[in-house]
Amino acid sequence: MSTVTIDYQVEGDIFNIQRFSLNDGPGIRTIVFLKGCPLSCWWCSNPESQRRRPVVMYNADKCMHCRRCEEVCKQHAVRFLKDGTRKFFYENCTGSGDCAAVCEYNALEMKGQRINVGELIKILKKDRSTFRHSGGGVTVSGGDPFMQAAFAGELFKACKAQGWNTAVETEGCAETEKIMSILPYIDTILLDIKHMDAEKHRQFTGVSNELILYNAQKMASVSPLVIRVPVIPKFNHSEEEIRSIAKFAFLLKNVKYIHLLPYHELGERKYQMLGMEYKMNRLSAVSLSNEALECYRNIVEKEGVRCRIGDES
Ligand code: SF4
Ligand code: SF4
Repeated sequence: MSTVTIDYQVEGDIFNIQRFSLNDGPGIRTIVFLKGCPLSCWWCSNPESQRRRPVVMYNADKCMHCRRCEEVCKQHAVRFLKDGTRKFFYENCTGSGDCAAVCEYNALEMKGQRINVGELIKILKKDRSTFRHSGGGVTVSGGDPFMQAAFAGELFKACKAQGWNTAVETEGCAETEKIMSILPYIDTILLDIKHMDAEKHRQFTGVSNELILYNAQKMASVSPLVIRVPVIPKFNHSEEEIRSIAKFAFLLKNVKYIHLLPYHELGERKYQMLGMEYKMNRLSAVSLSNEALECYRNIVEKEGVRCRIGDES
């Protein structure tokens, strides 16, 4: 490969770095979570990722009701009601962090940090021996990393310059040209395909699936893909929906396997902490049985695509 120029000064917004992950690419991995997502899926387990700017999370268990956050918030995003409950108006919040700065009880935590590629590589270097011994590396997740294409691109290049394995977790809903320009620096692409029906996709995620399916075809034309399917009750939890995704994946011809990810409610508390509605509560719960998941595995494999479920290797 010709010499690659890397701009280590390019800045991006991240909200978490998670070490020692086993499920997001080969070996032991460090995941860098970038902020900003074009989708707002009802079941999203990282709602703090959706906005590009920082968001504040409120832990009611630690709050001493001193009301200092209400006093300093110029946006009136924090208000105490007559009965003493603290109400947070997510839509008003600009992410200034003024409230968290005055909270003496650590009840408020800002999620979002600006960092440049050089600073991030320094942090990731702590795990380089783990990468070497396990065959792991760095996974860039989100949000959707391609929403910060300039930053993600330089980050991937910098990781490759270190000799690390790279992976991306993406919704595939970004400008095609930007995605394609970054692919040469990514070893593993984990792409979400949630539904084949554009309208239903829009209803549950906020956007149509057309660009995502187009980008899936473009990506698969140059790189192998892992297709991730979150299996969501009342959305795609049916033989018909899973079969249609498997048929699409088969036609891509460059799909390593479909990875079925059973729905869980782990993110629900975060919605309370952010003052956001957890829309999954609008639906009456339907449990995902192991039998149903095994049935979906059979459907996927009958369509000629390998299948993996949840944490299995
Ligand atoms: S400043 Fe902190 S402890 Fe005081 S009311 Fe606000 S969240 Fe609660
Ligand atoms: S972060 Fe949001 S809630 Fe806190 S002071 Fe700023 S605008 Fe108000």
